[in-house]
Amino acid sequence: MNAEIMMIGTELLLGQIDDTNATYMAQELAANGINLYQKTTVGDNHARICDALNAALERCEVVLCSGGLGPTEDDITRECVAEVLGRPMDYHPDVFAHIERLFATHGFTLTENNKKQATAPEGATIVPNPNGTAPGLIVEDPRGTIICMPGVPHELKAMLSDTIIPYLRERFGLGGLIHYRVLKVCGFGESRVDAAIGDLINGLDNPTVGVLANPAFVRIRIAAKANSIEEADALIDPVDAQVRDRLPGLIMGVDDDTLEGVVDGLLAKRGWTLSVAETQSGGIIAQRLVAHRARQFLGGIVTAPDRLEPGDPGALALEMARKAMVGLSATCSLGVVGDPVQGRTVVAFVHPEGTERWEFGRTGRDERVQLRTCVFALEYVRRFLTGKGTNISI
Ligand code: ATP
Ligand code: MG
Repeated sequence: MNAEIMMIGTELLLGQIDDTNATYMAQELAANGINLYQKTTVGDNHARICDALNAALERCEVVLCSGGLGPTEDDITRECVAEVLGRPMDYHPDVFAHIERLFATHGFTLTENNKKQATAPEGATIVPNPNGTAPGLIVEDPRGTIICMPGVPHELKAMLSDTIIPYLRERFGLGGLIHYRVLKVCGFGESRVDAAIGDLINGLDNPTVGVLANPAFVRIRIAAKANSIEEADALIDPVDAQVRDRLPGLIMGVDDDTLEGVVDGLLAKRGWTLSVAETQSGGIIAQRLVAHRARQFLGGIVTAPDRLEPGDPGALALEMARKAMVGLSATCSLGVVGDPVQGRTVVAFVHPEGTERWEFGRTGRDERVQLRTCVFALEYVRRFLTGKGTNISI
């Protein structure tokens, strides 16, 4: 079975909202082994929605629509589906009663146009919407199945996972699923990752391997098609091992792991606490540790770079790290000092067993460099604590 998704709403075409529904739908369909071959975005225009639906029905068996089910003039999805399938509109008093109850609960006044939400093309199955007024629709037709869901993201999510996915699995006898694992690499760019595992990216069928980078880390996604999560994991495990072999010590974490969380966990294992003294990075290390609820992090100091005494950056980083460590009674401390003359950042890490000094070949105050400085410092702490990879440059 193959599916298409159709995102309906002029505000999507104007770029006024992010199409998070499409991302969510695509992920859910993939996770359930449903092939998604095309996504269409169309405005709230009767003729163009009808055209898009007709074209989709030529290509696929199921069209999943989002949006345009509300009571207002521009909510016309229902009418378009009825027209495309050549069916009259039925009125469903029970649906209207549900809407009346909802309005009464919230103390809102019903208007005549709310009746529209209780209509559906003849023969449609009405899908309950416990989170809002607009019910969803499933319309089976010899030309294909059209499914409509509300545009409001939390309403769509609930309807998709509670009703629509189980319906599709049952109706199309879907046993298989796509399950994936993400391995994360910090401070080692996309092209270097690609050079290390390019043959796996190009050469494998099931699982497949893909690489995606953002400023903080590179994601290596290993995705398997199987009949169960356990079966998928069994396909993923050997490839996971191969990737780790090629990138020794460089896999920071898996799936939802964050660098901050991983470092915090490693510090906790040793019973060490951390303080941070920052300059050019402006407090981003402290901010991210706090945001990720790092329990071993005790606090930090930010010194404006222009207020620093001139001197050797390495010695300064060490001195600042010690100062923060003593002031905050921590057992470890990071000192991070930019050296604009040589275009580098020197990181000192003081810990119960000694001191480390690492150099990052960039410095500056713009947000990208600050983020990369943070990733550099924490990634090196991570590598130091795992005993692997501190000899590999970033
Ligand atoms: P309503 O009953 O609220 O009118 P609806 O089914 O008619 O729901 P829309 O009017 O198309 O849906 O969208 C309602 C709201 O949901 C939009 O204002 C927008 O904030 C959000 N929304 C719509 N489509 C998307 C989408 N594709 N991704 C994320 N949010 C969306
Ligand atoms: Mg609407």
